[in-house]
Amino acid sequence: MNKFAPLSDFQRPTDGQYQLAFFRFSALEGDRYVLTNQAGEYLVLPRAVLSALIRHELPSDHPYYSRLRSRQFLFDTSSKLGKALLANKVRTKTKRLENFTSLHIMVVSLRCEHSCPYCQVSRQSEDRNAFDMSTETAEKTLSLIFRSPSPAIKIEFQGGEPLLNFDLIRYVVVRAEQMNLSAGRNLQFVITTNLAVVNDDILEFCRLHSILISTSLDGPASLHNANRPRPGKNSYELAVAGIEKARAVLGAERVSALMTTTKASLSMGREIIDEYVRLGFPGIFLRPLSPYGFAIKTKSYTSYDVERWLEFYLDGLNYIIELNDNGIRFRELYASTVLTKMLTPFEPGYVDLMSPAGIGISAVVYNYDGEIYASDEARMLAEMGDKTFRIGNVHKNTYEEIFSSDALLDPIEQSFAGSAPMCSDCAFEPFCGAEPVFHTATQHDFVGLKTRSAFCTRNMRIFKTLISLMEESPKVRELFMQWAN
Ligand code: SF4
Repeated sequence: MNKFAPLSDFQRPTDGQYQLAFFRFSALEGDRYVLTNQAGEYLVLPRAVLSALIRHELPSDHPYYSRLRSRQFLFDTSSKLGKALLANKVRTKTKRLENFTSLHIMVVSLRCEHSCPYCQVSRQSEDRNAFDMSTETAEKTLSLIFRSPSPAIKIEFQGGEPLLNFDLIRYVVVRAEQMNLSAGRNLQFVITTNLAVVNDDILEFCRLHSILISTSLDGPASLHNANRPRPGKNSYELAVAGIEKARAVLGAERVSALMTTTKASLSMGREIIDEYVRLGFPGIFLRPLSPYGFAIKTKSYTSYDVERWLEFYLDGLNYIIELNDNGIRFRELYASTVLTKMLTPFEPGYVDLMSPAGIGISAVVYNYDGEIYASDEARMLAEMGDKTFRIGNVHKNTYEEIFSSDALLDPIEQSFAGSAPMCSDCAFEPFCGAEPVFHTATQHDFVGLKTRSAFCTRNMRIFKTLISLMEESPKVRELFMQWAN
């Protein structure tokens, strides 16, 4: 057996004798361009190099040549395994699709004792029977959940305030665990709660069943209490006390928090981040408001535009990088999700940043009344009267009818970014998402005109900024590698 590959494998190809792979490119600032391949790997090149590459005039001893070849932007006589390698990377990125739905959101009650003006689910304050999920509906929901082929099943309880119907949560957890004895899935539970009504019994049950807690924290007391009114005006005090209590019983790593950016938050980015650091959270997700529910009715959504939010976000991101420079380990979680897509072979499965869209495929929502929606945003849209993304009902439809319904498949097919106008030519497509629900809410169309899309503006700026920051500073690149992994 020959120990060595033949000499031809080590010979340089004749200049210009290379084949271009499929790739997309977009301009960054100055004369730089970013290129992405089909697996979402990127490379930043000066315009002159890009131009020579495309005209098949890039010499094989050019410093960029081997980098382009190793990331499968071009193939030559020595890239024997290049195409197979690229195919393997694409398969790894899309592997999630074969598992299908892993996140199952159960809205166990629409009641809430808070009255947040930005609420995206149009909570209700009265009539327990009308707005709580029944055990019959929960049973039917569980049967559907366990039809999902996903080896990992996460059941997330949402509201309103789900703890107002804790008896049903208790019932569902115990039943799901029983059903899982034969189903054998990696089963996990999350309760999304404002923690205002949490008590020792609830936390003990969470401990016994390894339930995660996800709460809301908008920032320091003055901001949080202004954003999240409730009787007693003490939402912040209850949330912080609840976080401490929950950490003591469940462990700090089992309690996370989410913030929402209101107009009042915009000038307080650094104070909000400081609050999260002070309370010992490892990161923050700087989230914009979404165009649904009370956020629209009360005009909260229109109270700032995407440019103002980006100013807030980018200042927050820079501040978090500064904190890390000063030895405080802390992450921005949206950037971390994007960086996982940019810097690793893995797909984090964040519904908003998936194409084909993550609706139904990655997450699905079972509403308190038995109606099934393709995503959390889809049910928020339905609460506003637009049931475009209602994909079935737990009492009336089979698993097959629900997950092959036109209401699910049409938006997924039509919004696919790889063939959508503008996205199909955009270098950031591998990092971005299709978001048919957002574009239906804002433009009454699954695809939307991307030049007028706040989703597109927001994400494109974030993608460009993250890449530029990594190009400019090896230290930031190293930090971002840690966030990505
Ligand atoms: S939405 Fe915008 S940023 Fe995203 S892929 Fe489409 S054009 Fe690119």
